[in-house]
Amino acid sequence: MGERIKIVPLGDIDGGLIMEVATQVSMSFGTTAIVNEMQQYHESAYNRQRNQYSAEAFLRFMEGVRGETPHRLLGITDVDLYIPDLNYVFGLADEAGSVALVSIARFKKGSGRSVERAVKTAIHELGHTYGLAHCNNNRCVMYFSYNLSDTDYKGKEFCIKCRKALDTRIPSDRDKVKIRDEHIKEVMCA
Ligand SMILES: [Zn+2]
Ligand SMILES: [Zn+2]
Repeated sequence: MGERIKIVPLGDIDGGLIMEVATQVSMSFGTTAIVNEMQQYHESAYNRQRNQYSAEAFLRFMEGVRGETPHRLLGITDVDLYIPDLNYVFGLADEAGSVALVSIARFKKGSGRSVERAVKTAIHELGHTYGLAHCNNNRCVMYFSYNLSDTDYKGKEFCIKCRKALDTRIPSDRDKVKIRDEHIKEVMCA
C-alpha cells in the first residue's frame, strides 16, 4: 500500500461532503483515504483587513496533524481563503510537503453543486501534490479554475496526458495491481 490520503476537516464540515470527497479521491489516486478527526482552524490565519484566511497559514497548520506515518494531507475548510496575489483561492497545494487544501466557502453559490465542486477541487489540489501542473484542456480536472463556471465545466477526471503523467508518479501500487490483473488473466485463460 502506498501513501494514504488523510482528510482533515478544518472546522465543522458536512459529513456527507467529506465522505464523498474521500471516496472520489481514493478512486482517482488508487489509494486509501482516511478521515482525520476535526481540527479547529487557526485564528492566527485570519486577516482582518481582507476578512479572509491565509491559505498558506492553513497549509503550515496542517503539517502539524500529519502524524507518524507518511500521509498525503487534504484539508477541507468552509472559510474563504486567499494568497497574497489573488482575491481568493478555491484551494492550494504544497507539492513538496504533500499537503493540499480546499475551501468550500464559495461552492454553495448556485446551490446543489457544492459536493461536486469540492470533489473536483480536492482531486485538482492533490494532483499538484503528485507533481502535476495545470493543464490547458478545460475539461481536465487539472485545468486552473478562474471562477466557478470553470470548475463546473471541467470534469473530475484527468485527461489522457495528465493521467499518464500521474501514473508514472504514483508509486508501486499501480504496478502491483497490474501484475495481479495479468495473473488473473493467465488463470482465466488456462
Ligand atoms: Zn492548481
Ligand atoms: Zn490534463
